[in-house]
Amino acid sequence: MNIHEYQAKQVLGSFGVPVPRGFVAFSADEAVAAAEKLGGPVWVVKAQIHAGGRGKGGGVKVVSSIDEVRAEATRMLGMTLVTHQTGPEGKEVGRVYIEEGSDIARELYLSALVDRATSRISFIASTEGGMDIEEVAEKTPEKILTISVDPASGISGHHGRQIAFALGLEGEQVKQANALIGNLYKAFVEKDMSLLEINPLVVTGAGDLICLDAKMNFDSNALYRQKDIVELRDLAEEDPAEIEASKYDLSYIKLDGKIGCMVNGAGLAMATMDIIKLYGSEPANFLDVGGGATREKVTEAFKIILSDTNVEGILVNIFGGIMRCDIIAEGVVAAAKELSLDVPLVVRLEGTNVDEGKEIMANSGLPIIAADDLNDAAEKIVAAVKEAA
Ligand code: GDP
Ligand code: MN
Repeated sequence: MNIHEYQAKQVLGSFGVPVPRGFVAFSADEAVAAAEKLGGPVWVVKAQIHAGGRGKGGGVKVVSSIDEVRAEATRMLGMTLVTHQTGPEGKEVGRVYIEEGSDIARELYLSALVDRATSRISFIASTEGGMDIEEVAEKTPEKILTISVDPASGISGHHGRQIAFALGLEGEQVKQANALIGNLYKAFVEKDMSLLEINPLVVTGAGDLICLDAKMNFDSNALYRQKDIVELRDLAEEDPAEIEASKYDLSYIKLDGKIGCMVNGAGLAMATMDIIKLYGSEPANFLDVGGGATREKVTEAFKIILSDTNVEGILVNIFGGIMRCDIIAEGVVAAAKELSLDVPLVVRLEGTNVDEGKEIMANSGLPIIAADDLNDAAEKIVAAVKEAA
């Protein structure tokens, strides 16, 4: 789960991490009121969307009058902001953040993430702040330092000093960096984050460190114990189909291709997507109905797949272990009838009660294409979609 920059800064502030003062605004009037409260002489108007690269897309403006605050807030609110992270369709701006302007001497990069390979928390630091870290990693990898912290022993002064040194900080700033990094680590662990990115971390003209931008992702599996974080969720930022899916406990992720995939188990989902690609097409989604899918769940899964107008064919690939194939078949048939399915449907079932399952589909009177194995299924759906086009 992601949250907005201004919310991330509130979280950081509560851990004693230095962030600029600011207020969120949902209208131009609120933006002006926020600017008046802050006092100026310089403000920054920042579009709040769950994506970075806003600066280059016109979503971050430094201004020096209340009139400009109003003008920029008016321009940004309701606009579709396109950045390299939003994709070409962009994201609609529903709120702006009004911040006091900061005097920037240097822009640095600092992030923390869960490194699955080492089972540790890694800090990534670079003197090249304000830029795309992927680009820095590609062009000047020597300008990136990665250090990992063992969660068993936690963070200590030497981690902070190593990072501060890599960032070219000196004297008093090293002390500040050490405290800041320790507090970032504390926030990261206590709030079950999976990613925390400060880009840029700024050295001000007065020589102080401050977090000018903040991006936070949280581990969805830990949200049950992060009630205050869940409250920060902005559903307008999430895909409506993914929200619908989560209500039925289905794991759904929309992708760009044209073949909808209904499978059980993440491993099978991966294999199904791979084999669709092998046969020359692309998956439209990743939809895992899980181990204990019921007929209702299968019907909901179908509805979600069909709500995607990119879907030109559906591949159902289920292994009935705990789950019985006849139940799946009933669900597929019921859903196909209810939703008057108008795209080709290939079903591959294997496992418990597979014969009963196949019989239910064969007797349904629906044009369901049966497949024997994964290869056969992928080949058939790719061919059927080509033919229908
Ligand atoms: P992003 O483009 O979505 O990553 O948004 P950021 O919050 O990182 O802002 C982009 C850039 O705007 C920063 O790298 C800064 O160069 C600039 N910027 C942001 N806030 C201020 C500020 O208070 N003063 C000045 N002078 N520049 C700022
Ligand atoms: Mn940024």
